[in-house]
Amino acid sequence: MNITWWLLLLTAGPIPFILSLCFYWSWFTSYLSYLVSPASPSTYDYIVAGAGSAGCVVAGRLAEAGHSVLLIEAGGPAPAMAHVPGLVGFLQNSPLDWAYRTEVQEHATLGAGGVSSWPRGKVLGGSSMLNYMFYIRGNRRDYDEWRDMGLEGWGYKDVMPFFKKSENFKGEIESKEKYHGTGGRLTVYKDNWKEPITEAYLKAGEELGYKTGDINGELQDGGFTPSHVTMDNGYRTGTYKAFAEQYVGDKITVSTFSHVNKVVLEGKKAVGVELTRFGKTEVYRARQEVILSAGSIGSPQILMLSGIGDKDHLQEVGVESVHHLPGVGQNLQDHILLPINIDFNDGLGIDPLAALYPSTFLSYLSGGGPLTSSGGCGGLAHVHTELNTDPRPDIQYHLAGTSFATDHGFVLAKNFGFLPSAWPWFAGHTHRSSGMLLPTLSRPESSGFIKLRSSNPRDHPIIQPNYLTKQKDLDTFLSSVNLTLRLLETDAMKAVGAELWEADPFCEHLGFKTGAYWECYVKHYVSTVYHPVGTCAMGSVLDTRLRVEGIKGLRVVDGSVMPKIVGGNTNAPIIMIGEKAAHMILEDFVEADDKTENTKSRNEL
Ligand SMILES: Cc1cc2nc3c(=O)[nH]c(=O)nc-3n(C[C@H](O)[C@H](O)[C@H](O)COP(=O)(O)OP(=O)(O)OC[C@H]3O[C@@H](n4cnc5c(N)ncnc54)[C@H](O)[C@@H]3O)c2cc1C
Repeated sequence: MNITWWLLLLTAGPIPFILSLCFYWSWFTSYLSYLVSPASPSTYDYIVAGAGSAGCVVAGRLAEAGHSVLLIEAGGPAPAMAHVPGLVGFLQNSPLDWAYRTEVQEHATLGAGGVSSWPRGKVLGGSSMLNYMFYIRGNRRDYDEWRDMGLEGWGYKDVMPFFKKSENFKGEIESKEKYHGTGGRLTVYKDNWKEPITEAYLKAGEELGYKTGDINGELQDGGFTPSHVTMDNGYRTGTYKAFAEQYVGDKITVSTFSHVNKVVLEGKKAVGVELTRFGKTEVYRARQEVILSAGSIGSPQILMLSGIGDKDHLQEVGVESVHHLPGVGQNLQDHILLPINIDFNDGLGIDPLAALYPSTFLSYLSGGGPLTSSGGCGGLAHVHTELNTDPRPDIQYHLAGTSFATDHGFVLAKNFGFLPSAWPWFAGHTHRSSGMLLPTLSRPESSGFIKLRSSNPRDHPIIQPNYLTKQKDLDTFLSSVNLTLRLLETDAMKAVGAELWEADPFCEHLGFKTGAYWECYVKHYVSTVYHPVGTCAMGSVLDTRLRVEGIKGLRVVDGSVMPKIVGGNTNAPIIMIGEKAAHMILEDFVEADDKTENTKSRNEL
């Protein structure tokens, strides 16, 4: 343990404690106000369960149209620290995180004992408060594929206006008007602080024939870019702040620290939800609809707890089946990435001691500097491996100026859950400037499921992603290793002294850089990029207007509705889903008898 380790202990060490303190303070003050304030009304026009990326968009748009909305969230308000981009890694395994764990994987994440750590936001803003803030939409053909599966209204041309509606792109970019929104609630920009190595990554891409430009625009089929991020003036733009907060106290009532147990059904009609708050179980009713936005784990879990799912499975766990819908919880898809570690010349990556320099704070005061780094990853790219026959790229790179060594084991390696036996390999590089090239499978073929572990709503469900069970996924990763080695051979990377780390401890016995070595390496180090989707998919669980098949008054609006994962990080697509869902809900609005005067029945995009 050298001096850097001790200094990090002093600076980074207290952060988890401060975060926990903030959480318990807001829990305590919410409890006090729950005790003293008058009871909230028990009926609303709409109930939105889950204040995450999609839930806040839906709640905000319904409130904007004049409807009363109850927005229910299991977590509490986000502490100010959670809005500082550079602290992103500390949010995992904190009280703001559900901290799910998958079942043991046979072929993947073996370096973490086969268990993949799945953080999800348990806080107002949901996973939009825990994420790395990259704004990527995937490929236009992803949405056309949805449309061609029979999901009318979900082609690229149909969804593009909703991407633009929420976006407020700050700064200049090519073809801005064609591809970007500028008046939306979600500020996106690309001028936050990037690690200096990012420039070399982009030049390396150019040497391999890729252009640098807008991968949400003209370069969707291949290209490199400085990362676009959901940040505004140095602060994370979480969806609660961006879309919902301004209506709270007026049209939106927020119920924090409230765990939704199930949907309340009368026959096959959803009429409300049951939740537990501070030990008390209550029922709230919706005049119009109940909208589940609890995410790809929470939404199928709530449906199954409500008796909507595969009847045999429900019987196994002692839940009475109300409606047999076997697709609930199936079709779980997730992106996985492969960290390939390198060292390079000093000063080009993240400086672990940056937080100690007054200059860091001074630059942050004007919304810049290292504290605005999006988790150390300044570059992104869409590329093709030699195996790819699709016009859509099959690999997305996350290009990082930080590695498992940079923070001396305080954050990143813990978040990935690596076994202690991996640490000596990382430790050998703590004295160097280091980074990672992280090829990410854009459209994995392996898929899994979510099932109930028990009928207790508080039990985390069974999460089985079945990583790397399809040979094609493994082959694509192996091909991406070749591509990565080619990137490292470019003049741009040689000029910055880039060097692959030596053989790792789990696979070195197979002979460094042999085919067997890389296969072992992939199986040990692949990890989730935190994009589970598909578990209440349109076409099996939902119709194209996101209504639950066979149940009235109930929709699902979040990442779980995707029939197929898109080739890019999922936050922007899920916000788009929230926008489009709100539009459809307002279109379908049937004027209720007790409609208030200022309720708009018309909906304008
Ligand atoms: C660590 C991390 C990094 C990521 N990085 C990126 C990135 O850089 N770019 C990107 O595009 N995507 C990223 N993602 C993915 C992206 O953030 C998610 O796909 C997206 O936020 C999911 O949105 P959602 O609305 O489906 O669910 P969520 O945002 O997770 O919202 C679900 C909400 O429902 C609440 N909830 C769940 N169950 C219950 C219940 N029973 N009762 C009450 N409330 C409940 C949750 O607490 C949560 O607030 C990342 C995700 C994580 C976790």
